[in-house]
Amino acid sequence: MREQREESNTMRIPNFELAYRGTPPWDIGRPQKEYIQLEQAGEIVGSALDVGCGTGENALYLAEQGHEVWGIDFTPTAIQKAQEKAAQRHLTATFRVLNVLELHTLGRTFDTVIDSGLFHVFGDEERPLFVDNLAAVIRRGGTYFMLCLSELAPKLDYGKLKDFLSNSDNLKDFLHSLPDSYELKDLMPNFDKLKEGEYGPRRVTQAEIKKSFHDGWRINYIRQATMESRMGPGVRLGWLSSISKE
Ligand code: SAH
Repeated sequence: MREQREESNTMRIPNFELAYRGTPPWDIGRPQKEYIQLEQAGEIVGSALDVGCGTGENALYLAEQGHEVWGIDFTPTAIQKAQEKAAQRHLTATFRVLNVLELHTLGRTFDTVIDSGLFHVFGDEERPLFVDNLAAVIRRGGTYFMLCLSELAPKLDYGKLKDFLSNSDNLKDFLHSLPDSYELKDLMPNFDKLKEGEYGPRRVTQAEIKKSFHDGWRINYIRQATMESRMGPGVRLGWLSSISKE
């Protein structure tokens, strides 16, 4: 049961690549409100790295506010879209295709790292690897902000998800352009076998966050937050964590 859940919640590069040829539910075309509020509260300081930046809305917002910004994502189409937006908006930001489990290869540190919806894609075995890589790119005293879905988030409604995927504005046109042998289940592993509530990003508990950041980190707060999505109103409950490197 546990293994199935891990597998169903971890989308890999080809799946993200396909998702970004359309517009995936999390790609809302504007910064997440929680990040706007953090910036306005002055909590985001200095240079910023957006890990799993997607098409770059949060990173570009911080660039607009005057931060030196880098965005990293392993999905080439997402990075290409982010670079196009930066050019269109005349903003300076550095976007790179890289697996965040190899962040240490960047060879530099940042004052702040932001994460909107990345941590919750990792399986248990990837979390410590990610945290080690994070430590390599954040200066001592620098802060990692993480927005993830929480265990309090309502389960995703199967009908809603199917509606979303078949909306021509999202993935339908793209799916139609694929060979006949290609099916929805290739985009989301085990889609057909999933039961209500078993798809969508993994839910993360406060205890799991504390466990991942117990050594060498100080948790400033973990507070309830909302993750906005294109799948309609419905509150998407998450945790916003502020975690500093000791
Ligand atoms: N932060 C973006 C995207 C969130 S979805 C936003 O708020 O819109 C999660 C993102 O993490 C996807 O863009 C996916 O391509 C990226 N991702 C997942 N695993 C990754 C990894 N190991 N290395 C780099 N990027 C990864």
